[in-house]
Amino acid sequence: MRVYNFSAGPSMLPLEVLDKVSKGMSDYGGSGMSVMEMSHRSKPYEAINAETEELLRELMHIPSDYDVLFVQGGATNQFSAVPLNIGTASRKADYAVTGNFAKKAYEEGSKFLDARCVASSEDKNFTYVPELTADMLRPDADYAHICYNNTIFGTRYSAVPDTGKVPLVADVSSCILGQNIDVGKFALLYAGAQKNMGPAGVTAVIVKHELTARADERCPVMLRYDNQVKNKSLYNTPPCFPTYVVCEVLRYLKALGGIDAMEQINERKAGKLYEYIDNSDFYSNPVQKEFRSIMNVPFVSPSKELDALFVAEAEKNGLISLKGHRLVGGMRASIYNAMPEAGVDKLIQFMDEFKKAHK
Ligand SMILES: *Cc1c(COP(=O)(O)O)cnc(C)c1O
Repeated sequence: MRVYNFSAGPSMLPLEVLDKVSKGMSDYGGSGMSVMEMSHRSKPYEAINAETEELLRELMHIPSDYDVLFVQGGATNQFSAVPLNIGTASRKADYAVTGNFAKKAYEEGSKFLDARCVASSEDKNFTYVPELTADMLRPDADYAHICYNNTIFGTRYSAVPDTGKVPLVADVSSCILGQNIDVGKFALLYAGAQKNMGPAGVTAVIVKHELTARADERCPVMLRYDNQVKNKSLYNTPPCFPTYVVCEVLRYLKALGGIDAMEQINERKAGKLYEYIDNSDFYSNPVQKEFRSIMNVPFVSPSKELDALFVAEAEKNGLISLKGHRLVGGMRASIYNAMPEAGVDKLIQFMDEFKKAHK
């Protein structure tokens, strides 16, 4: 039996994609082998690599002066790659600390350059997104860094901050492909695949080409954007299979109507869950409304004991991984692209039954 998996990541993949991938498991496209067994220098894999990039460009409307890379090491590796590649002119960078990952990015950046935290919502346990404007930044900063959707705390920017002349970098691991993102407003975007794009193991980097030519000379070769650009992300053996699954997810998303269609579905899924929570008189969500994520929805019941019982009983009903992050407690429903609307409906129905039994 397939369950509804509300994990923050790795998370669900569309069943259609899993079926398609499993059909090619022993013979992909007449090649006589699976993508896992294939040389990354072979014709069929080169086609997959190229198609994955093309589809991401098409779906996200990525302008032609941006490079699209598929690299290893997760989003976390980009916490180091970003300062080492583009933080090399003034060696200053300004960070907004809006959650755990944003903080980790800031701390990692501090190892390589003069990093400054210019905005933080830690005072209220990251339940809102603080304002970030150009006049809060050092005018000569190499970049400003934000985390666009805060996976653990369930917040997101309601609009892209205007950082003026300072290039804007965003970690979009938990919202890429789930909502429209105006790529042209950013200098660099990066995302680990395992929330909304595919399996863990591959990370997308979308970077303005002009920024790829200024890496620190001691930047490890695997982290250098110019090296990955030159080699079309095939400098060494890439994560072929995860990238292939990403390709299938992108094909699926395109057939569904692209990100516009996906965003509408996601707004509807999140909208009904928040509405239920707000009107329940039992559950609550701590996030200021305008900053609520449509991907990650944390909530609590009236007590820690009921929270634990909720998570255990939900699991018996095929609603998996609803335990909240240890920094927040309670529950968290991650409802990424591949969570069917029926999964959210079933969760709401379960929440209502649980409330009636324990109110
Ligand atoms: C999951 C996540 C990360 C960490 O990703 P890894 O690929 O495990 O390194 C970083 N940032 C955000 C916003 C995330 O959701």
